[in-house]
Amino acid sequence: MDHSSRLRRLQAVLPENKLDLLLVTHLPNVRYLCGFTGSAGALLVSDRGVSFFTDGRYIAQARAEVCGAQIVIARKAPFLAAVESLAGSRTGGVSKKVLGLEGETVPVVMRDRIAARLRPRFKVRSAPQLVERARMVKDAEEIGCIRRAVELGARLFPIIRKKIRPGTREVEVAGSMEYAARCAGAEGMSFSTIIASGQRSAVVHGRASEAAIPRRGFVVCDFGVILTGYCSDRTRTVHVGRPSRAARQMYEAVREAQQAAIAVVRPGVAAGEVDGAARRVLRKWKLARYFTHSTGHGLGLEIHEAPRLAAAQTQRLEPGMVITIEPGAYIPGKWGVRIEDVVVVTPSGCEVLAPRDNELIVI
Ligand code: ZN
Ligand code: ZN
Repeated sequence: MDHSSRLRRLQAVLPENKLDLLLVTHLPNVRYLCGFTGSAGALLVSDRGVSFFTDGRYIAQARAEVCGAQIVIARKAPFLAAVESLAGSRTGGVSKKVLGLEGETVPVVMRDRIAARLRPRFKVRSAPQLVERARMVKDAEEIGCIRRAVELGARLFPIIRKKIRPGTREVEVAGSMEYAARCAGAEGMSFSTIIASGQRSAVVHGRASEAAIPRRGFVVCDFGVILTGYCSDRTRTVHVGRPSRAARQMYEAVREAQQAAIAVVRPGVAAGEVDGAARRVLRKWKLARYFTHSTGHGLGLEIHEAPRLAAAQTQRLEPGMVITIEPGAYIPGKWGVRIEDVVVVTPSGCEVLAPRDNELIVI
């Protein structure tokens, strides 16, 4: 990964955002910028240089992983060590320096503590999401990592299919798949596996429960793996027992909505338009009011990243963005269907990663 150029690009945009320094504490952002994969680290970025702070547990790991930053091993929390280094520094000049914090993830107590320690020489403020913005567009190496993660996730689906039968508990299905994922080299799952069967298929985030799979009904399976730091995300809905006409129709409506959304993905299109395309199809099938979440999200080092594909989102798609397309319809107390794939925005449109098994599978 080209960490040095990511850091240089961030340094270059600090002045136009009226920042002298940025304290990066959100760990996926730290990883993105300098390569550190541990659980305690902070990065202090200014136009003069970049320092990485961690604690004694990570001396060897920091030396092996961190690129483009000077490593400081601290005896206190890394963000505090970074702040102390500023408090003890000579800033030069009479004007106050502006230190940006990652407002979305820094707790208020931490922000107050930092501001108090640096008064009066520094002004502390919430910075725009500069690193998240950069992370929206993936480079070829990142797309390669996501592609491999999605491929691995797709290979796990036959295991789910084999395990799903009436009477088996949802957690057993999830467990078999997660074991297979780890055996295949996954670092972990992107999120708690969702296996939601029968009436529970109408629960949008129905984590696998102790419930036994009924003799007849939909089973929503939403799962993802983490491979070389990057997440995959995929949903397939299968039907146990013979589906009724209404069940088939519901499935086809969601599938058509997903195809319609994928068809509009290309550079320059607003994220909200992709959402609108899926919603229009479901409206035609009188299912729009049962589609209770957004059409998709970016993914990468984190399972949910920018952009959000929801109504009124004006963010324009760009080549290199990696997003999910996952419309669904959920009728409470009855059933639910969701189909989800990961797509990469290309210069001329998009590419669906591992585009398999999206016809209704009857078990
Ligand atoms: Zn998902
Ligand atoms: Zn998703």
